[in-house]
Amino acid sequence: MSFWDYLFPSRCLNCQTRADGNRGLCPACLRSIPLKTALTCGDCRGRIPVPTDRAGRPRWPSRRRTCHQHHPYLLAAATDYRDHPAIRAAIHGLKFDLIRGVAEPLGELLAAFLRELRLPTAGFLLVPIPLSRVRERRRGFNQAELLGRAVAAELGLPLAIDLLVRIDSAPPQSTLPDRAARKQNVQGCFRVARPELAARRKILLIDDVTTSGATLAEAASVLRRAGALRVAAAVVAQA
Ligand SMILES: [Zn+2]
Ligand SMILES: [Zn+2]
Repeated sequence: MSFWDYLFPSRCLNCQTRADGNRGLCPACLRSIPLKTALTCGDCRGRIPVPTDRAGRPRWPSRRRTCHQHHPYLLAAATDYRDHPAIRAAIHGLKFDLIRGVAEPLGELLAAFLRELRLPTAGFLLVPIPLSRVRERRRGFNQAELLGRAVAAELGLPLAIDLLVRIDSAPPQSTLPDRAARKQNVQGCFRVARPELAARRKILLIDDVTTSGATLAEAASVLRRAGALRVAAAVVAQA
């Protein structure tokens, strides 16, 4: 134990027991977070089970099986923000208290969820939802990028952090009252900086929390216009 650890012992944000390595969540609390067992419609939040082919291999749901066929993405949300105090404590620590170490267990949680869903993610490119340059500098890190790095390491998938760029500094979505205001707030806020990476690719957007889904929908639309074959979004929690 270093002198620094002695002064500021790292504790689990949920149960306050000592946690190693500044990860913010102890292994017991991480394991206690219930994971979802299906995909979610990005529009109405309806449950969409992962179908299997005749040989029993999981595959992506066809449009026919999706309630809102023209919505730009399917959502893979690992858990529900309301379901468990540990997930609320961890997300709050990452997003508002800027405890960057929490991204690692949360990224592991997201990867475990994708693995357990048996979703075919081979060939997908991971794209974290970017922050504007000003906001990233102010925060010191982009939490979606840290999550993306953890998921990439766990699942062995490539990560592109410079494909999508956030061009404005509109107010954070969490400060806006309703879905309509949030949708308008993000319109035109993303640009595809590396169109050659997006064209004909399958892309999995990564973010920490989704509330109205407006940010993910805007990012997915921009990527689809750039020629992406399929866009899905993997988030730690759905609020
Ligand atoms: Zn704990
Ligand atoms: Zn739906």
